[in-house]
Amino acid sequence: MGLKTREQYIESLRDGRVTYWDGERIDDITTHPRFRVPIEVAAQDYVNARGARSKIHSYTTDEGVAAHRVFQIPRTEEDLDARVELMHEMSIVGGVTGVMMALMSVKDAVAEVNPKYAENIERLYRYVRDNDLRAAEVITDPKGDRSKRAHEQEDPDLYVRIVKRTDEGIVVRGAKLHITAASLVHELVVMPTKGMRQDETDYAVSFSVPVNAPGVKIINRSFAPAELNAFDYPSSAHHSMPEGFVIFDDVFVPWDRVFLAGEVRLASVLAQSLGLWERTGGLVGSVASSKLFVGLAALVSEFQGKERDAHVQSMLAELICYHEMLKMGLDYALRHPERSPSGMIYPNILAVNSAKYYYAVNYHNAVRNLQDLAGGLVVTLPEEKDLRNPETGKYIRKYLSTKPNVDVETRMRVYNFIRDYTADAYGGWHLVVALQAGGGLAAQRLMMNRTFDMASARKMALAAAGAIPRHADEQKHAAE
Ligand SMILES: Cc1cc2nc3c(=O)[nH]c(=O)nc-3n(C[C@H](O)[C@H](O)[C@H](O)COP(=O)(O)OP(=O)(O)OC[C@H]3O[C@@H](n4cnc5c(N)ncnc54)[C@H](O)[C@@H]3O)c2cc1C
Repeated sequence: MGLKTREQYIESLRDGRVTYWDGERIDDITTHPRFRVPIEVAAQDYVNARGARSKIHSYTTDEGVAAHRVFQIPRTEEDLDARVELMHEMSIVGGVTGVMMALMSVKDAVAEVNPKYAENIERLYRYVRDNDLRAAEVITDPKGDRSKRAHEQEDPDLYVRIVKRTDEGIVVRGAKLHITAASLVHELVVMPTKGMRQDETDYAVSFSVPVNAPGVKIINRSFAPAELNAFDYPSSAHHSMPEGFVIFDDVFVPWDRVFLAGEVRLASVLAQSLGLWERTGGLVGSVASSKLFVGLAALVSEFQGKERDAHVQSMLAELICYHEMLKMGLDYALRHPERSPSGMIYPNILAVNSAKYYYAVNYHNAVRNLQDLAGGLVVTLPEEKDLRNPETGKYIRKYLSTKPNVDVETRMRVYNFIRDYTADAYGGWHLVVALQAGGGLAAQRLMMNRTFDMASARKMALAAAGAIPRHADEQKHAAE
């Protein structure tokens, strides 16, 4: 109990989980080269919670025990700020463990329908927190033919469903796609991908199972090749993290791990709970990455002596505007939080959805500006081995020099970073992630439409058109 060490975390992954990569079943992920970087990425959160950065990464529970801060339920604005500070530093594995916040934020609503389910949520939360475990957000179903509902599909398993109910629990079948870090966590927290109707009760299902539960199988895929040279791939080499294609092949779930089993009106409540925390994480990341874009754009312009050109200044200003808007969006969301009936505080829903949407729809434009400024070398720069080979290295150094105070190797590192971050391994992944992770653009549009104060906007429009009085006293005057 309490905070795990890095070694305990790694050892905990040797639990018989069934996981595949590159056509191979990997019995022990802790010794397989494919998982070397992902495990190091995840393990760093354990190191930070006990080491010099413990102030950011850990907190003391109400029971007086040290726990990872990812489990701290925000109750004040300061708690929320501390969580965002953590999000800036935490690995993506810690990030997806934020699914516990989503579960806890709907506990009150779940209790109204079935108090037992709410108790199950609380018990799982304490178990994961007190054992310093990690959990994945398991929500996206394959969905088959999008014109049909879950129960109308040719194959009934295209959305995760209950295939059997017993006195001991339920048996579930189906698959969930794109699950970040599925092979690196301990618990798979499953939620419906969307709201379900009365005739889809078997699909209104939410539960948590250990990754090594019989019948769970994971097929991995990462943007990063197995072994990456950190000079040529400065981003991918440090961030490699697989997504999992997770299969539930008739998996037994005991009742005390079930959060929903047929009560359709809760399906959308659970489905939407995750979106807010996922999108907050995306927004926090975007504030950092947009600042990085400004820095990279400034550097490549300076390297080439074009930093004073009007068109460069104008593109830099666009990138700065992008960053500042995101920063302000996040700040607004944190300064205008919302509160659940039991006192949990969370970022402003409309602000998070709007700012995350702004990030996503403008991300490709920001990449375009950076790549436009950087030029073709982004994708044609020779690799490190050619730089280190004296026969070729001397030409690379000669022809890539720009001015005396620009070091060629530094220039190459910056270009490699831009390629890797925006155009290659990590970059290609990021282009899609900006749009899709945390739910696609449509999901954010839906939330904006749902949470915006449309009545007051309508009233304002009618008043502007002279169809109704502008102010209450005018109304009174009109009535007289
Ligand atoms: C790198 C990465 C990591 C991810 N990590 C996770 C994770 O950890 N856990 C998790 O659960 N999910 C994860 N996701 C999944 C992500 O949330 C989804 O990709 C996203 O919600 C879009 O869903 P989809 O991929 O099924 O695409 P779709 O929903 O099929 O979207 C594609 C298009 O279909 C349209 N569309 C949407 N609904 C309908 C409809 N009813 N009928 C017709 N068209 C429709 C959309 O407007 C969109 O244009 C991840 C995705 C990526 C790319």
